[in-house]
Amino acid sequence: MKRQTGQDPEITRHWRPATQAIRGGTARSEWGETSEALFLTSGYTYDCAGDAAARFAGDQAGMTYSRLQNPTVEMLEKRIAMMDGAEACRTMASGMAAMSASLLCQLETGDHVVASRALFGSCRWLTDTLLPKFGIQTTVIDGRDLKNWEAAIRPETKVFFFETPANPTLEVLDLRAICGLARAHGITSVVDNAFATSVLQRPIDLGADVVAYSATKMMDGQGRVMAGAVCGTEEFIEGDLLKFVRNTGPTLAPFNAWVVLKGLETLDLRIRRQSENALAVAQFLEQRVARVNYPGLMANRYHDLAMQQMELTGPILSLHVGGGRAQAHALLDALQLIDISNNIGDSRSLMCHPSSTTHAGMEAEAREEVGITEDMLRLNVGLEDVQDVIEDLDRALGAAGL
Ligand SMILES: *Cc1c(COP(=O)(O)O)cnc(C)c1O
Repeated sequence: MKRQTGQDPEITRHWRPATQAIRGGTARSEWGETSEALFLTSGYTYDCAGDAAARFAGDQAGMTYSRLQNPTVEMLEKRIAMMDGAEACRTMASGMAAMSASLLCQLETGDHVVASRALFGSCRWLTDTLLPKFGIQTTVIDGRDLKNWEAAIRPETKVFFFETPANPTLEVLDLRAICGLARAHGITSVVDNAFATSVLQRPIDLGADVVAYSATKMMDGQGRVMAGAVCGTEEFIEGDLLKFVRNTGPTLAPFNAWVVLKGLETLDLRIRRQSENALAVAQFLEQRVARVNYPGLMANRYHDLAMQQMELTGPILSLHVGGGRAQAHALLDALQLIDISNNIGDSRSLMCHPSSTTHAGMEAEAREEVGITEDMLRLNVGLEDVQDVIEDLDRALGAAGL
């Protein structure tokens, strides 16, 4: 038996998050490899028929099928749970698999959901289109005012669903207040923490019940694989959620889990540097364009709240160039270093025009309401030398006549 310190809660609970991100959950095989092994197997064998029966009955520890368990995937789940301060974690094939499973596994016809209106585009499709189709009513509110959450509560309200900072407006919501209100009413809070990750913000410490991730973003961090994760209590993850996912199959592939494990080793370093770079870019843009949305800026209306619940404010900002779609597209087309891409959390600087891409599926009116105007661009600031990023923006703004 190899030393398995990364799997021993008595040892790992004393580790700080940056240590957990590198060593948490590691289960070494008989070879004692330093880097986590990649187990590309869909099935498992049994020494005898009795063992197979015992394992299916849950009387014997061990794996049965990779839709349910895989050693590489389990290492990642243990690691993410530790980093989030959660009892348990279940990974998924994508962020949207994580979001939809978190909601669908606990809702049924007649239930009611309150959601913040500033959500990732596909999350708005869940609240506006999918859930109502199954008789689950949703109320979408301006989540910045706690009174709106309170006013929307009905006897049948089961879930509060929101993200902070929000994509792409960078609105910051008061995690402690909203999760506290939910708990006081027996409502489950589901927080999409993709922008911050546990390095910058730990919603469970602030009272959240369920934390869902697109691990495609900062956790992979190098734009390689799709992945998602859901953290919560053992009861929720091994109960409602497991029942749902074992029978619907949004399972994370072992290879993708392995890539994210490698990504987590550098998450702390990357997100700190990208946050520093993003602040420098935001400070430059503040002097240069009509408006910049970045909670790290002193002048930002969410600055104080962000600093209360986040360690740093992350790699993503948005800007309003003035004018409309033509001006925003002209800036994109003039870029030389920053890529036109709708991904975020990548080590590369990437920029996109939300109203014609990520949020094109939203009603124009709903977009305007949230502040996704035609002149808005979203920028993921990467790990390049920040001076090169600033120079690219400065030159492209000039070339676009802005
Ligand atoms: C990207 C993203 C998602 C969806 O994740 P995928 O991995 O692309 O499926 C959900 N929420 C937020 C905030 C995101 O940025």
